[in-house]
Amino acid sequence: MRSGDLARYLLDFGWEEVLLPGRRQASDIPADPLLAGDLSSMAQALAQCQRCRLSKGRTQVVFGVGNPRARVVFVGEAPGAEEDRQGEPFVGRAGQLLNAMLRACGLARSEVYIANIVKCRPPGNRDPQDDEAAACLPFLKRQLALIKPEVIVLLGRVAARHLLGLTAPISAFRGSWRRWEGVAVLPTFHPAYLLRNPQAKRDAWEDLKQLVAKLQGGSPSEGATAPGNAEIVL
Ligand code: SF4
Repeated sequence: MRSGDLARYLLDFGWEEVLLPGRRQASDIPADPLLAGDLSSMAQALAQCQRCRLSKGRTQVVFGVGNPRARVVFVGEAPGAEEDRQGEPFVGRAGQLLNAMLRACGLARSEVYIANIVKCRPPGNRDPQDDEAAACLPFLKRQLALIKPEVIVLLGRVAARHLLGLTAPISAFRGSWRRWEGVAVLPTFHPAYLLRNPQAKRDAWEDLKQLVAKLQGGSPSEGATAPGNAEIVL
C-alpha cells in the first residue's frame, strides 16, 4: 500500500494526525511568513496578510509562481484583475506576452519564477504606493533569498524603483546590468508597456538577448538565437 493510500485509510478510521503527502500540518506553517523555510509554507503563512491597505480590496494574495530553484526571477509591479482572480501573476494579456518573451529566450514559464513588488491588487490597477511597496517588499526579498537566482529581471519602472531605487524613466536604464544583494539585475520594459508601445519590443528583445547570453555565460552577441522581433509579437 502506498503511503498516500495508507494515510487516507487511517483517516477513514478516525485518525486525526495523519499527514497526507504534499499537505502540511498547521504546525509546519510559521506565524511570520518571513520565518518560512520554503516558498510553499511562506505562501500559506502569507495568505491572510493584512500588513497594508491593499489587503482590503484583494480577492487573494498573489504570491508568485514558478520553479523554486529558478535561475531567473522576473519581478513585475502588482497583480491586475485577472491575476487577483486566478491567484497567479502575469496571466492576463501582459502575461501572455511575457510567456512569448520567455519562449523567445528558450525558457519555459515553469523553469523561471515570477512575482511582483506587491502581492495584492491595487484598486483600479493604480501603481502601488510607497508605503504599500515598503510593507510588501520584505516578502519578495525573502522569496529571492529562498530561490537564490542568478539573475533578476525587473519588468518596468515600478519594479526598478522599489528594488533598486531608480527613479528615472525605464528607457534611461533598461538593458543596463545592475546588482542587488550580489545578484545580477536586468531592468527592461513591462509587458503591459510593450502592449501599449509595440515599437519598444525591439529594445526589449535586445535586453532579453543579454539575459540569454548571461545564462549561457557568453556575451550578448553569442547568446540568443535571435528569433527576431516578430516572435514576441502576440
Ligand atoms: S500587498 Fe503585501 S503587505 Fe500588503 S496585504 Fe498584500 S501581501 Fe500583505
